[in-house]
Amino acid sequence: MIKVFKFGGFAVSNAESVKNLVKIISFYTNEQILIIVSAMGKTTDALEKLCKAYVEASEDTQEILTSIKQFHESVMLELFESKNHPVFDEIANTFVEIEWMLEDDPHPNYDFNYDQIVSIGEFLSSRIVAAYLNKNEINTKWVDARDFIHTDNTYREGVVDLNKTQLSMPVLKNILKTQFVVTQGFIGGTSENFSTTLGREGSDYSAAIFASGLQAESLTVWKDVPGIMNADPRLFPNAQKYDELPYSEALEMAYYGATVIHPKTIKPLQNANVPLYVKPFLSPEEEGTRIDSLAKLNTDIAAIIVKDNQMLLSISTKDFSFIDEPILIYLLQCISQANIKLNMMQRSALSLSICFNQDEGKFNKLLNILREKFNCKYNQELSLLTVRHFKKENLDAICSGKTIIMEQFSRNTAQIILK
Ligand code: ASP
Ligand code: MG
Repeated sequence: MIKVFKFGGFAVSNAESVKNLVKIISFYTNEQILIIVSAMGKTTDALEKLCKAYVEASEDTQEILTSIKQFHESVMLELFESKNHPVFDEIANTFVEIEWMLEDDPHPNYDFNYDQIVSIGEFLSSRIVAAYLNKNEINTKWVDARDFIHTDNTYREGVVDLNKTQLSMPVLKNILKTQFVVTQGFIGGTSENFSTTLGREGSDYSAAIFASGLQAESLTVWKDVPGIMNADPRLFPNAQKYDELPYSEALEMAYYGATVIHPKTIKPLQNANVPLYVKPFLSPEEEGTRIDSLAKLNTDIAAIIVKDNQMLLSISTKDFSFIDEPILIYLLQCISQANIKLNMMQRSALSLSICFNQDEGKFNKLLNILREKFNCKYNQELSLLTVRHFKKENLDAICSGKTIIMEQFSRNTAQIILK
């Protein structure tokens, strides 16, 4: 049976972590393992800056590129000692592809440029990891994820063609019979062979697509935390780890903004009934969290999710007419047109209040559509607190010292906007 392992940016952030990755893999040399990696450390952020500089024809373009190159080179020097190792050429060739692009004028579609440039991060990391596994006598093949994950051409948010993707899986299964395979998370390919990305932090999602497509025994996501916690330990020092979680609860938590797992990850796994393990990269012997259909939910532990940088917009009619259903439909269409994703919504007779992630571009777009017919009032820099399986007394403690702007309760979930 195949196991799929995903290593995020943290797990490939420097030479030492690549060595740790290889150590983990060496425990599994008798198994079939597909390894999916993210870009190293903060490389994706750096490539985003590079793309912006290129499109704006900024003077910094070259400098940003040079620092990305130097970072990868320093990691490789530590891992491979000599520059004669063939991986140096592979990496140089990967950079040549961007350099060619940077010499041309940008494509009019910003998102197209973004995907061609930003996807390079995963190509670099996967080349380095594959070469280092081979250096350690773990027979590994590097494959291009674009040959397997097929998407449409919605750049930066590629929509995966699951049927076409499924058809390419037997090839991968075959390779896995004799070799370990390393590939890239976060990216896919269009039918014209351009790169697409699947949305920031999307490599969990890639891993889930591979794991379900291959009918893997399990997917393990190696993280910088002990497993899935009920709260961010940096904000809540008493945070607890879940030993197990049902798919549905993990999905709810991701939906409300728990950042440990990308929200799109669960569905493919649940459909194919592939268990997900979230395990600590630095203590691989620990159990971590198991997510599957058999897991029991411990509702004694409340899940606390805090989303900062929230905006609350209240929309009301100018002529005091009710926010009735037809107006509600119209408003939701406007919100969707502006590509805004709602984190919370509340309606009264004369107004609709919506809470969403602060994004100036999207917000201005919405405001322009609405201004003519509606009054719009807004607040920024708010936090949205979501508590699943809450107890009233705990909520009071969490909210103490803050101003409650709006709240909403269902049987299981409390959502509170705080200032
Ligand atoms: N490297 C990409 C990002 O940082 C994808 C990922 O890490 O999942 O967004
Ligand atoms: Mg990353």
